[in-house]
Amino acid sequence: MTDPRTALVVGGGIAGPAVAMALQMAGIDSVVYEAHAAPAEGIGTFLTLATNGVAALRALGAEEPATTASVLWSGTGKRLGAAAMSMTLEDGTTGYTLKRADLYQAIHDQAVSRGIRVEHGKRLVAVETAGGVVRARFADGTEAAGDILIGCDGIYSAVRPIIDPGAPAPAYAGLINLGGYVRGVRVDAGPGTYHMIFGKRAFFGYAVAPDGEVWWFANVPEPHEPDRGSFASIGTGQWRQRLAGLFGEDAGPAARLIQATSHDLAASPVHTMPRLPTWHAGPMIVIGDAAHAPSPSSGQGASLAIEDAVLLGKCLRDLPGPDRAFAAFEQLRRPRVERIIKQAARVNSNKAATGAARIIRDMMMPVMLPFFVRFIANGKPGRRLYGYHIDWDTPASPIQE
Ligand SMILES: Cc1cc2nc3c(=O)[nH]c(=O)nc-3n(C[C@H](O)[C@H](O)[C@H](O)COP(=O)(O)OP(=O)(O)OC[C@H]3O[C@@H](n4cnc5c(N)ncnc54)[C@H](O)[C@@H]3O)c2cc1C
Repeated sequence: MTDPRTALVVGGGIAGPAVAMALQMAGIDSVVYEAHAAPAEGIGTFLTLATNGVAALRALGAEEPATTASVLWSGTGKRLGAAAMSMTLEDGTTGYTLKRADLYQAIHDQAVSRGIRVEHGKRLVAVETAGGVVRARFADGTEAAGDILIGCDGIYSAVRPIIDPGAPAPAYAGLINLGGYVRGVRVDAGPGTYHMIFGKRAFFGYAVAPDGEVWWFANVPEPHEPDRGSFASIGTGQWRQRLAGLFGEDAGPAARLIQATSHDLAASPVHTMPRLPTWHAGPMIVIGDAAHAPSPSSGQGASLAIEDAVLLGKCLRDLPGPDRAFAAFEQLRRPRVERIIKQAARVNSNKAATGAARIIRDMMMPVMLPFFVRFIANGKPGRRLYGYHIDWDTPASPIQE
C-alpha cells in the first residue's frame, strides 16, 4: 500500500480530534465523523487527565487550549483519602481534573481551529474497501471515501467488528457508575482536592472545584451485568433511594451530596476492553477505547487515547505504507496499554469487594496505601506510567518502548 494522503476518522470524542491533529502534522488530510449531533453531547461526569495525557497534548501543541480553556484546577488531589491520581513531573507537568464535556469541547475546538473538518450526525454503519479506497457509510445515507480509516469510536466501537468480526465484546467490570454536580453543600475538604472513600457497600469519590461546586461519582458493585431494558427503566428517584441505603452508614459526605443533587442521575454499567487481538486490518485501525479501554478506575483512558493519536500520527509519517505504520503502532502500544488495564482491573476488584474480601481490604488499605502511593509516586512504575513521553520529532521505530 502506498503512503496515505487522506483519512476518515470515525468518532469525535478524544482520540478522534487528537489523531486528526497528529495526521495534519504528519501531512495527512482527514475529516472527523461523529455520531452525535453536537460536540460533547451526552457526556456527564468528570475525569482526570494524567501528566502523560498532558504531555501527549503538548506533543500536538494542544496542551494550553485543552487545559486552560476548561480547566478547573490542576495539581490534582495528592491525597485521595489517599491515593494520587497522577503525579507532578520534575519539569512541573501536572495532571488536571476537569469535566469530561469540557475536555471534549476543548479538543474539538482546537482541531476545528486548525482547519480540521468535524461532521456531526454521522454514525458509521458500514465500511467497504476496494481498489485502494476505503468507503464509509453512515446511518443518514451519506458516504465518505479516503485512503485509510481510523476507528476512534469508543468502547462500543462499530469499526472494531468490521476489522475483526470475531472481536470480543467489552467486558462488564462488575460495577455501576453514577455521578453528579452539587452546589451549596459544605464538605470538609478544600477546593482542588479529590477524595475517595471505599465505603462499606460501594465506592464514592468527590472533588471540590475552586468555585465550591462539588463533583461526585459512585461505583456500585453489581456482580451480574444488568440487562439494558430493565436497567434503563430505573429512574432517578430509585437510584437516589438505593444510593442512600448504600452510603447511609459510611462516614463522609456521600449521602448528603447525593441527596442534594437536583439533576437526573444517569447510571451506566462499567465496561472495559481488556484485550483485543486484532487492532488493524488492511487500511483500517482502531485506537483509543475502541482498541483498549481500561476501567475508569485507572484514570488513564483519555490519556492513553491521546498518546495513541500522537504515536499513530508519527508512525504514519515515518513508516512506508499503512501496513507497516499500523504494525509498528501496535507493537509499540500494546505492552503499555495492557499493563495499565491489568493494574486498573485490580483496583476494580477492590471497589467491588464484599463480605470477607471487604473486611480484609479495609484492614490492609490504611497500611498498604501509603506505601503504594509512595511507590507509585516516586518509583519506576509511576515514572513509567505518568512520565511517559512521546517525542514528535524523533522518527518512529518499532523499538521505542
Ligand atoms: C465514568 C467515567 C469516568 C472516567 N474517568 C476517567 C478519568 O478520570 N481519566 C481518564 O483518563 N479517563 C477516564 N475515563 C475514560 C475516558 O473517558 C475514555 O477512555 C476516553 O474518552 C476514550 O476516548 P475515545 O476517543 O477513545 O472514546 P470516546 O471518548 O468514547 O469517544 C468515542 C466517540 O465516538 C463516537 N461514536 C461512537 N460510535 C460511533 C459511530 N458508529 N460512528 C461515529 N461516531 C461514533 C461517540 O459518540 C464518541 O463521541 C472515564 C470514563 C467513564 C465512563
